Amino acid sequence: MSTTVRVRYAPSPTGNPHIGNIRTAMFNWLFARRNGGRFVVRVEDTDQGRITEGAVDHILDGLEWLGIDWDEGPRVGGPYGPYFQSERLQRYHDAAERLIASGDAYRCYCPPERVAELRKEQARNKQRQGYDSHCRYLTDAERRANEAAGMSSVLRFAMPQSGTTSVDDAIRGHVEWQNELTDDFVLVKTDGFPTYHMAVVVDDHAMEISHVLRAEEWLPSTPRHVQLFRALDLPMPIFGHLPMILGSDRAKLSKRHGATSLMEYRDDGFLPEALINFMALLGWSLDGETDVMAEDIIRENFTLERVGKPAAIFDLDKLQWMNGVYIRQLERDDLADRILVFLERDYPDALLPIDRAYLLRIVPLFHERLKTLADAPDMLSYFFQDTLKYDPATLVQRGMDNDGTVVAIRRATSELSAADDFGHENLEALLRAVGEELGLSGRQFFGTLRTAITGRTATPPLFEMMEVMGRDRVLERLSRAAEDLAAL
Ligand code: GLU
Repeated sequence: MSTTVRVRYAPSPTGNPHIGNIRTAMFNWLFARRNGGRFVVRVEDTDQGRITEGAVDHILDGLEWLGIDWDEGPRVGGPYGPYFQSERLQRYHDAAERLIASGDAYRCYCPPERVAELRKEQARNKQRQGYDSHCRYLTDAERRANEAAGMSSVLRFAMPQSGTTSVDDAIRGHVEWQNELTDDFVLVKTDGFPTYHMAVVVDDHAMEISHVLRAEEWLPSTPRHVQLFRALDLPMPIFGHLPMILGSDRAKLSKRHGATSLMEYRDDGFLPEALINFMALLGWSLDGETDVMAEDIIRENFTLERVGKPAAIFDLDKLQWMNGVYIRQLERDDLADRILVFLERDYPDALLPIDRAYLLRIVPLFHERLKTLADAPDMLSYFFQDTLKYDPATLVQRGMDNDGTVVAIRRATSELSAADDFGHENLEALLRAVGEELGLSGRQFFGTLRTAITGRTATPPLFEMMEVMGRDRVLERLSRAAEDLAAL
């Protein structure tokens, strides 16, 4: 590519970013990295009424968590700043003046009630919705009178009323619109703030954005932007509209599909690496079949030619599966450190601090089973709890009675306290022999022991767990189990 690639992610700080929004950020970032370009973050905060406190930090923290770094923008600065649109008002005012001077924009004094009424009427008559260009035709005298009367106004763009506007979209190909279907849209609101259309065009130019890669929902706005670039006599960036993301029922993606804000995925125990991989496939593919690929593979191969037009389907099951794949690829130490964060979050203070050396021995028992990190606190809980809560009657296996079960547990207790090797192989040999001697099947004897030391029926292999828990903990649990059962 001859020109320098400069792309931007332009979030509006109106809430927690959802997955589609972050997918846009990520595709821009991948495109910049692949082409040796610059990735810019620009905060579009001109809609003052919709700004939510803390949203910018949420967005930026989310990008950082995913490892999506930006070359210019909030927190890092850069030569094209400021990167908050609310701090760039003068530039929009200058552009507004130029458009008024060239006759491409005009002041509109219509009260909001008139515009609303107009829309209602258009809806009733099944006409094109939009402003009817009323003030475009005011005489100079009328304009002066309105100004003298101190009437409030917005600035509107004088849209060409015939002909077509088209773009060659890098993803969607040639797209064309009838100009008569686009109304004279607002450029500057009564509060003096620019609209999105105005600010986006001024800034995409001022920041020398080469490619505008954004969600498909913005495609209908593109003829407005194209006309604005023209009226301001500015070079046009290349547009590329990323495919929509739908739920598995092909309805617009929503919470119902399990698609929540980015940080909820973090809190639900998804790995950033898995999300990157998963999101890359929401509209892009390496070869149409490979699912699991590391970030560097994605980055090296990311081209717009491989971004599809059809809507991408968000499949939560696939994300969960992929997360498990990435968990299994982690080194034990790394996984332990990531699990630790969740244990510290969910466990009561009494169980903290977590003994990291102990956790490191526990982790291999669960490495294959974890789907998300958030599963860990519950899955591992019996390794840390002081007392297990379970119904002692569940110690008794089918074909056994209470007394026999108490005898079996006490026998195991004395054998285990005398065992000189607490490694799992020895424990297994020893306890198998005891079970046989007691006339119990493996299912019975080990079922009882499993419940006694974990309070559960489904766990990792019994003897390996015993080895990891250690003699003291195991003996303590067995004694308590025997006591509780005897007291029934
Ligand atoms: N501020 C818009 C948004 O939040 C950006 C649209 C664009 O990229 O042009 O989606």
